[in-house]
Amino acid sequence: MIAAIEAAWGQGQRVAIEAPTGTGKTYAYLIAALARQERFVVSTATRALQDQLVDRDIPALLAHQGLQRKVAVLKGRENYVCLHGLEQARSKLQGQHAGALAQVERWAQSTQGGDLSELDDISHLPSLVPHITASHDECLGQRCNHFERCFSNQARSRAAQADILVINHHLFFSELRHRQMLGVGHGFVPLAQTMVMDEAHQLQAIGLKVLAKGLNVGDMRDYLQTVERETSLHARGFAPWQALQQKVQQAMAQWMEAEQQALGPADAPADAAARATSRQALIHLHNALSALVAALQGVAGSAAVVAQLAGQGDVMLQALRQWAQGAGKDLVRWWDSPGVVRAGQAGDLQAYGRYAWRQGFRESPLWLWQALQALSPQVQASSWLGQGVQRWLFTSATLGDDEALTWFAQGLGLRSDSSANSEAGDAPLLASLRLRSHFDWAQQARLVVPQGMPGTDAPAAERAQALAQWLLPHLKTLGGRCMVLCTSTAAMEALAQALRLGLQGQAIRVLQQGEQPKRRLLQAMRTAPSGKTGRVLVGTLGLWEGVDLPGEALQLLVIDKLPFPPRHDVLHAARVQALRAAGRDAFERYVLPQTAMQLRQGVGRLIRSASDQGVVVIADERLHSRSYGAALLAALPPLPSLDDEALPAFLQSLAEKEIRP
Ligand code: SF4
Repeated sequence: MIAAIEAAWGQGQRVAIEAPTGTGKTYAYLIAALARQERFVVSTATRALQDQLVDRDIPALLAHQGLQRKVAVLKGRENYVCLHGLEQARSKLQGQHAGALAQVERWAQSTQGGDLSELDDISHLPSLVPHITASHDECLGQRCNHFERCFSNQARSRAAQADILVINHHLFFSELRHRQMLGVGHGFVPLAQTMVMDEAHQLQAIGLKVLAKGLNVGDMRDYLQTVERETSLHARGFAPWQALQQKVQQAMAQWMEAEQQALGPADAPADAAARATSRQALIHLHNALSALVAALQGVAGSAAVVAQLAGQGDVMLQALRQWAQGAGKDLVRWWDSPGVVRAGQAGDLQAYGRYAWRQGFRESPLWLWQALQALSPQVQASSWLGQGVQRWLFTSATLGDDEALTWFAQGLGLRSDSSANSEAGDAPLLASLRLRSHFDWAQQARLVVPQGMPGTDAPAAERAQALAQWLLPHLKTLGGRCMVLCTSTAAMEALAQALRLGLQGQAIRVLQQGEQPKRRLLQAMRTAPSGKTGRVLVGTLGLWEGVDLPGEALQLLVIDKLPFPPRHDVLHAARVQALRAAGRDAFERYVLPQTAMQLRQGVGRLIRSASDQGVVVIADERLHSRSYGAALLAALPPLPSLDDEALPAFLQSLAEKEIRP
């Protein structure tokens, strides 16, 4: 891997390397980047990997090589406690927040970095977080009394001086967006001539999300809270602030409800009446927000922060007007809604808490490279499409289903060294390398495709019931040690319920994604082997990657269905339509590679060390009965098949062995 990186960089090429778990890719790219003797930036998809790099991997390598380098981590501003917000919250929040606030205040006095991830219980305090953090728009900048001590500012100045800077993809794309809006001189993330994008398979999704235009209901909620805070300090009594804010809030809830109905799923467009209702609700929201913004403009002279709020309100009004005009050419728009908020419940903000606030509308091109091409040439230069950065490395355990990593290259607007990608024209060339796993999958794992399950078009409850009945004896044999990856929230809920019923009276506990933070669920799985109670973890997409459960913590991995992209996903539907319109085979070119990557991510959860052993169950007979099944199987590591009948004995042998990770 080091040789491939050096060869590509030596020839001025960008390089993508697929390196499965356990190949040591982190050390390989760190060694290659350190050899340049220049500062470099590593970007990851998750904050967990950011922390792992700065707390473990980089210090270990520097110590081993006897090197001294300044290492810094930078996260988004919202990850650090805002001392101004904390001060305001003290005078404003009482009652239910008092205990939590006191806890945060005690921590804020002793913390070095002010990173909220240090607060173990913060996930239970979501209602407090908006008050004690500041987005870029909310930050007072140099007008803030805490500017010198500000944790976010301190993290930024450490980042500017670092030889090795660790950021995340969200921050990288936010930086591009920021430069686009304010000019290239206004960047806040010091990029470098060597950029390493780890967990690069996530770039497409994260990049499109950050670069998409739109308005999030949570942004409006944060805005209203800031208006409330600042008007009570600087303009109390000058306007009926509370009534104005309540009208916006009510109009927003009505609009959310109406818009969800109007957009509907991609395969069932809404009728004209629903669209008319949503338009009326949008006009109502626009009018309510206009009234609030006009009142703020009337007292803009009272404080700079009030004038700033009036300006922000104007930007939101523009976004609402843009939404009313309809989607532009080659753009797709959708209502961004977390799975737990379903149609008919969207307006009930209190019941759905922070999840409901994440909703909003988005408008985006179909592919990340289109979003990058829409940036100005000066900003684009800092992306891999431009010439402003000399060296790019993209790496992940899963980047494609062919040697040239064509799927990955195309999505990023790069040209892999392959004839299949010849239409990429004069796009920058991407060198590629696929490393084989050094785990012996053929020896360590088996594949079972259960026979006689209801078809994949059967209702989720019926399939869940059948799969649970099939699984129960195997769970009892193994004493848990199982994770079930579902393709939908409905399937996860039905399966978890069926397993709980079936395991009553057994020393096996069923854990379900969403009931606790992911970190705690995984911790419970890891500690299970030494305890008396086994565990089964049931989840959806959040568990298909970033789950590391070596040894006895996980020996039975179950996938409920082949993970084809959901048909009702608007972006997916638009991509399929666009490929068909261009005369291409959307299934071959897009759906199948996407599904193969997702399946490989899921299956990869099972074997995490050379001593791991286990069984992958894919409860979808299409793997054998359909022509595309062979292509999906070929994308997986070599997995000898096991019959339903041979499974109990195999699991029994696993249950009797002691496996150390
Ligand atoms: S500078 Fe901004 S983020 Fe820092 S404490 Fe002040 S308002 Fe908060």
